[in-house]
Order: sequence, then C-alpha cells, then structure tokens
Amino acid sequence: MTSRILHRGRTAPPVARGGKGPWLHLADGREILDASGGAAVSCLGHGHPAVVAAVQAQVGALEYAHTGFFTNEPAERLAEMLVGHEPGGLSHAYFVSGGSEAMEAALKLARQHFLEAGQPQRTRFIARRQSYHGNTLGALAAGGNAARRAPYAPLLADSFSHVSPAFPYRGMRDGEDEAGYVARLAEELEAEFQRLGPQNVAAFVAETVVGATAGCVPPPAGYFRAVRAICDRHGALLILDEVMSGMGRTGTLHAWEQEGVAPDIQAIAKGLGGGYQPIGAILMNERVLAPIMAGSGAFAHGHTYLSHPVACAAALAVQEAIAKDGLLERVRTLGARLEAGLTERFGNHRHVGDIRGRGLFQAIELVEDRATRRPFDPARKLNLRIKEEALARGLAVYPGGGTADGVAGDHILLAPPYTATEAEIDLIVARLGEAVDAAL
Ligand code: PLP
Repeated sequence: MTSRILHRGRTAPPVARGGKGPWLHLADGREILDASGGAAVSCLGHGHPAVVAAVQAQVGALEYAHTGFFTNEPAERLAEMLVGHEPGGLSHAYFVSGGSEAMEAALKLARQHFLEAGQPQRTRFIARRQSYHGNTLGALAAGGNAARRAPYAPLLADSFSHVSPAFPYRGMRDGEDEAGYVARLAEELEAEFQRLGPQNVAAFVAETVVGATAGCVPPPAGYFRAVRAICDRHGALLILDEVMSGMGRTGTLHAWEQEGVAPDIQAIAKGLGGGYQPIGAILMNERVLAPIMAGSGAFAHGHTYLSHPVACAAALAVQEAIAKDGLLERVRTLGARLEAGLTERFGNHRHVGDIRGRGLFQAIELVEDRATRRPFDPARKLNLRIKEEALARGLAVYPGGGTADGVAGDHILLAPPYTATEAEIDLIVARLGEAVDAAL
C-alpha cells in the first residue's frame, strides 16, 4: 500500500486495525502484544468497554463548546476528580491536548505567576540533561536531550540551563552512597541557582521518573526533597513532568507521592486519557494562581481545544476505571512480577547492565561491557534492532537511548496496561528475552 502520510521512516509501518486489552490486531492478521502502550499511553489497554461507551455518549451529547464561552460537565467532573482530593494541595486543572502542550502551559504559567507577583526578572528555568519534555519549541528548549535539540538549537529560547540528571547507574561515583550522590546533585543545583542569581530563577523542571531519554530512571531516595528545599529557599517553583510517569504508571496516582514532596505545577498526559482521546493537563496549586487571580484574573494562554468535552469524558472514564477496579494496587502487584521476571531473565545477562523502574514502568539498559558499563556503539542501533526482533515475535516494546551524545546506553522501555494478566506479563519477558538475544 502506498501512503500519503509523512511517516517516521521511509516506509509506512504495518496497519493497526483493532485491539483488545494488551493485544493489537494488525490488518495483515498478526496479533501483537503491546508491552509499552505506544509510549506508556494505553494504561487500560485497547477496547475498554466503559471508556468506549463514555466517548460514544459524549460525542452524541456535546462534541465541542469553546472554553472562551462555556465550560462543560465532563471537564468539570474530571477536574474535581483530579484535584478535589489531591494530597499535595494541587487545586486547579487546565486541560490541553497532549504532553508537549501541557509543558508549554506549565512554563508559561510559571512565567505569568512571577510577572504578576512583581518579580518580572525571574526568566530563567533550570532543567536536567537526558530529559524529555516534548517536541514543541518551548518544551524542547526545556528538554535536555542533546540529539533532539541540536537541529533546532537556533530556534530554542536560551532561558533554560541544564544540570546533571539523577541517574544512579550512570551518575553515581565508585564508593559514593545514595545520600552522598543526592548531596552532590543538590550542590550542583544550588550552584546553578547561584550562577544565574537565585532571584532570576522561575522554576526547576524535572520528570519525576525519567522516561524515554534515559529509560525509567527513578530518583534516588531524598533527591526531590533536596530539590524542593532548594526551590523553596530561593522562591522558585517546582514543575514536575509526569506526562509519562504519572496517572498510576508507577503504582501511585502521581509518582511524586512516593518522594514526599509535591510540585507547584504538574504536567500529565499519556495515562490521563489512556489513548482513547488526545488529552493532557497541568495541575497547579493556589500559590501559583494567587497573584494571577489577584491581578489580571486569567491565564494568558489558550488553544482551541482546551477542556475538549469528548477528551475529558474519555479521561474521566479512564480515571474512574482505575479507581473503581483498584488498578493502582494491580500496578504494584504486576510491576513487582514484571521486575522479578526481568531480573530472572536478564539479571545475569552479559549485555544487560541495569534493570530499573517503578510499578509497570520498567526498562533494561544494554551495555557492551557490564564491568565498565560501556554502552554499545550507537551506530549499531541496537535498540531499534531489538524493537524489530520483538515485533517479529509479536511484541511491541519502546526503544530508547543509544544516541551519540547519550551518557545512557540503548534501553528498552516496558509499560504494559494496568489490566494485563500475569500470563501476559510473563509472555512479555519471554518474548523480550528472545528478541534481545536475536538482536545481539
Ligand atoms: N514529557 C514527557 C516526560 C514525555 O515522555 C513526553 C512524550 O513522550 C512529553 C512530555 C510530550 O508529550 P506529547 O508527545 O504528548 O506531546
């Protein structure tokens, strides 16, 4: 079939026609076990009846009403569900169409907060290397993935600087313990505040658990408490990007709940709507909103599809299913099984250097040499070869790393649906094992 779509490669990929749970049905008859939900999107798998019914009902009732004139019921109910009982004091939601849009909104909201708070000099943002915050220009400027940034460097704002990621496997020094590592990262962040002038910094931006650029890297214990303390000391905001790691993926609704801190602004997307509709959001606390509400009264930002009723209805149904079916508990149980399976299969593998993650967000990192942690030559494109070998065995996994700039090596990211069975989790490990060995 010739295709008129600008695909990601020279040729069109296979056609996906249907799906049920973690299984995708291709037009050529193949059945693919979707072990990553795309890029950690399909948290309920495919064809969830309650979500499908909610989308159908909403599109029949009201497909669209511009937020410059009206609000709508699914958006109001979704906001109430997300922030009404929020443990971290997040009080309001703002619904957009995806993760990059959410990050753009987060950055602009932080900027407007300080403009209206009488601190217009706070124009600097500190983010981290090996991070990904989206592909639009603001989000790309925040991101610290050198390979993705390089072609667009002349278009990116220079208000962002990047410090080291919290990446124990690659960043911890020999003989250093976790507390020492966290203290060193905190010192580096403090030094960056001082370099920029603490009064000039608007926010620190980070993924709570790093997703695609480094491969499911949870923070070392105490890291975000140290970061929060530095931001508070200097009056800067903390923006956490949970576009990939949020909405239950790590076993709590928000990944930051496991860190003993709360952000001022949080971006969410993928697991919010589970892929049933394009939707993202920012959640924010009263502190962020207070000067705006006392001043201009409105967030000076907007897109045509804010609070889209059908997208919000889909997300509401996804979040209701997660709550009603006890799926956070399920993520913790299945996540432990996945981690144990990966450890059993790859724990002694000579080319698997690290197995890491939280909940149903797990990755393996491939290395040429386990002792020195030397990555494979990126020119081998090992991650892509594993993806292809996996697909040939009926398994979809998400490849990452392996870029020439990357301190991180090739990795394979797994993010199966919260509704998967134990047998499906075991099959993911078995097929991935065969794919890795075939690709090496
Ligand atoms: N932030 C993180 C952490 C992501 O993983 C992604 C996407 O992978 C984004 C932002 C951008 O989201 P989207 O692709 O929906 O624009």
